[in-house]
Amino acid sequence: MPRKLNIALISPRTGLYRFGTGVFPLTLRYSPLNMVTLAALVPPELRGSITIYDESVEKVDPTTIHADLVGLTGITGVSMRAYAYAEYFRRRGITTVMGGPHATLMPEEAARHVDAVVIGHAYATWPRVLQDYLDGRLQKFYHPPASIDWSLIPRPHREAFYGKRFVTTNATQAVFGCPHQCEFCVTPVVCKGKYERRPIPDVVNDLASMPGRYVTFLDPSPVENVEYSIALYKAIAPLKKRWGGLATTRIVDRPDLLDAMEESGCFGLLIGFESLTDCGNSTIGKGFNDIRKYRKLMQELHARNISVMGCFVHGLDSDGPDCFKYTLDFIHEAHVDLPRFTVCTPFPGTPFFRRLKREGRILTENWTLYDAQHVVFRPKNMTVEELQEGHIRCWETAYRLNSIVSRLNGSRTFLEYTILANLGYRLYCHGHRKFPPARMARDWRLPVTTPEDIARIEARPSPGAE
Ligand code: SF4
Repeated sequence: MPRKLNIALISPRTGLYRFGTGVFPLTLRYSPLNMVTLAALVPPELRGSITIYDESVEKVDPTTIHADLVGLTGITGVSMRAYAYAEYFRRRGITTVMGGPHATLMPEEAARHVDAVVIGHAYATWPRVLQDYLDGRLQKFYHPPASIDWSLIPRPHREAFYGKRFVTTNATQAVFGCPHQCEFCVTPVVCKGKYERRPIPDVVNDLASMPGRYVTFLDPSPVENVEYSIALYKAIAPLKKRWGGLATTRIVDRPDLLDAMEESGCFGLLIGFESLTDCGNSTIGKGFNDIRKYRKLMQELHARNISVMGCFVHGLDSDGPDCFKYTLDFIHEAHVDLPRFTVCTPFPGTPFFRRLKREGRILTENWTLYDAQHVVFRPKNMTVEELQEGHIRCWETAYRLNSIVSRLNGSRTFLEYTILANLGYRLYCHGHRKFPPARMARDWRLPVTTPEDIARIEARPSPGAE
């Protein structure tokens, strides 16, 4: 009988989001889906044992981790910390594998720090990675197949997260990828422009297997196929779950879709309003956002008792120092339940990064600062300092107690959730001043990171970024 294969999966976090040093001491996070799905995909004949570590809800001491193979995942902002973990485990003779968005965007760079890189969705390649490891023929790169049969994805092992400090472990996904091509967005690059859907009965069975009422859909762009979405919402309605998810502003034109959402138990949507100017939305390739319909969209959703996490981007080429004021005016007038602000960030591998690189406007390639809360490029119509300070003040103003009361009083939607979430975000936004760029730039290091590791990790990214 083959020996048992011990696998550790680690999801690193930057300081702003890390449990214990960050600002979510009582986390409002839902659990991620990728690692629990990988746990379910370990072929039984390999007798694999998987332990999952997520730094957003627990402190991780790598010296206590004993595994044959360590898997790392993450977005660009955590990639240098993932490399620090990888360098440490490789020094101990442990094999390391990295997947996730950043490894997909920058595979050559990741390959300098880990033994194998999984590009794109790992669902189809992960069992082969493990078998190759056991056979002693691990490849440097694993590419996804041209198409994935989503009906073969097993029920994730969500139990691995039970007892951890996630607000819910009931996360699922029905739709993968996005048909749009917003200039700054990582999704169409990682998913190669594909837009794929799981069979609806599989999603229904997945939801039915979850304990409790509340569910989070992680689909990046679920409503771009309206027929599929309506069919999905009708199919899950009898389960009487309450769910939150994402949508684009285009839903305002489809009352039938809005009705189906309401009837299926939707309690909240994350919506990318991004800019409050036509010019801003068209410069990022999101011209389908019609600012004239934003208020109507808010009214339609509130009328259906659906709360809105509204996302706004600062620092677009059309943005001047007044962008913060008109963003705040809008969130107050439209009673946005949970506003969220990001600094426009040129993630490597995106058209936005390539454009700013050509224009000589990238200020740093220390990926830890690429967390969408720190300015990493030279804005067009304001200074770096104006953008960074205006952005932080926007957070602070939106989450003053009088602002919270005024917005929620106007909305009065799903208050049992939005009051708690606003108080959580109020704590979060005060964390920004604790993580200025100089601190963030070193934040990825672990206590076990050696000067040699630091030199390797801080070496310039591969030309793939350019
Ligand atoms: S920002 Fe949203 S709509 Fe645009 S490409 Fe990304 S997921 Fe799609």
